[in-house]
Amino acid sequence: MTTDVVIVGASAGGLTVAEGLRRRGFTGSVALVDADPELPYDRPPLSKQVLDGRWPAERARLRDPDELDSLELDLRLGCPAVSLDAPGHRLTLLDGRVLRYRTLVLATGLVARGLPGQEHLAGVHTLRTLTDSELLRAELESARRVVVVGAGVLGCEIAATARGLGREVTVVEPATQPMERLLGPELGAEVARLHTERGVRLLTSTPVTGLVGEAGRVVGVRTGSGAVLPADVVVVAVGGRPATDWLTGSGLVLDDGVVCDERCRAAEDVYAVGDVARFGAGAGAGSGAGSGAGAGERGVRLENRTNATEQGLFVAADILGARAAYRPVPYVWSDQFQVRVQVYGTVPEGPSAVRIVQGSLHSRKFVAHVETDGRLVAVVGWNSPGGTRTARALLTSRHPVPHAP
Ligand SMILES: Cc1cc2nc3c(=O)[nH]c(=O)nc-3n(C[C@H](O)[C@H](O)[C@H](O)COP(=O)(O)OP(=O)(O)OC[C@H]3O[C@@H](n4cnc5c(N)ncnc54)[C@H](O)[C@@H]3O)c2cc1C
Repeated sequence: MTTDVVIVGASAGGLTVAEGLRRRGFTGSVALVDADPELPYDRPPLSKQVLDGRWPAERARLRDPDELDSLELDLRLGCPAVSLDAPGHRLTLLDGRVLRYRTLVLATGLVARGLPGQEHLAGVHTLRTLTDSELLRAELESARRVVVVGAGVLGCEIAATARGLGREVTVVEPATQPMERLLGPELGAEVARLHTERGVRLLTSTPVTGLVGEAGRVVGVRTGSGAVLPADVVVVAVGGRPATDWLTGSGLVLDDGVVCDERCRAAEDVYAVGDVARFGAGAGAGSGAGSGAGAGERGVRLENRTNATEQGLFVAADILGARAAYRPVPYVWSDQFQVRVQVYGTVPEGPSAVRIVQGSLHSRKFVAHVETDGRLVAVVGWNSPGGTRTARALLTSRHPVPHAP
């Protein structure tokens, strides 16, 4: 038997494809496969409401069991896909079953990166899954000193949550400011201020060289200077890599993600969505995602929750015959210490100018424009959801950005 659509990965991206198909009236067979045995859940609460205990784990579910039933899926949880024969349209699962498909969607997300040797030490965590969040939460209950390695979005959120639970928190980061990759150095400095004011010890420009253990448990983190930061619990938040190991030899092009075209197609009858998808490859500079994230030859891979949904809906439509190029405006939000940071567009790595267009840094409520060569490339909001949403429209408009006289 051949399944009409097989989706690998039943989280934000994969589930949205299934829902998008049904919403558009698709009555064919759909199988949704995931390695994780849990009913599909959302990840943003795992570093926030689930980690600090405000939410029970079930509240992070993306849909309740009745809603899932109504989609009439062949739902296979706890069932990793282990190999793909793309030309032959065959997907093999760990239990040995082979699924034949007409269309395949890859939505396998990321695998958390770790530090060498961490697997041999108790007390060292990464955070990607619901189980990770529950294990870390349990350890935070008795820990006094927490060291977070990495001050990207995830590391900062975990630090804020642990500090909110009353723990002594140190964050170690090689860059000069936290969240520098997302916000640039100037606005990253605001995140630094936020954390240090709340009692987080922030060590920037500080590389980590290793973990220190005793009797099989972590007791510290060693930095580039040779100093050891004492720790009862260490959280490694140094990013993730696309979950594509199992696709080696499949016939697909892999390059830090599944390489796909502007319609998110990786091969004949194969799509990729969400964190794992590098879309728009070969489309040429300037034709890509929203503002500042031009796809170029290598394409673009976005790691954010909103993209997983938008791309999932896009792919569902394409499977059913819509024909367009996927060009989102990238959007990331983060909640830390009662502050909501929002970013539309992409802050470039090189020099850019930051202009506060609403509110002020002093009032801790502002909207900032980030510009390169006089062109608006990103809008950053700090506790200003309304103003940020309004400014987003400027990113997509063809008119020049208005400057205050
Ligand atoms: C703790 C945390 C907090 C976050 N907070 C925010 C936030 O505040 N704002 C924001 O914009 N973004 C946030 N993100 C990012 C956001 O959650 C992701 O961008 C989003 O989950 C991507 O969805 P996805 O479906 O592409 O991948 P994922 O959500 O990673 O899902 C991939 C699924 O594929 C499954 N899978 C992997 N390999 C296989 C295989 N071989 N066979 C079968 N199944 C497989 C996995 O088990 C997983 O369920 C956060 C991420 C994390 C981890």
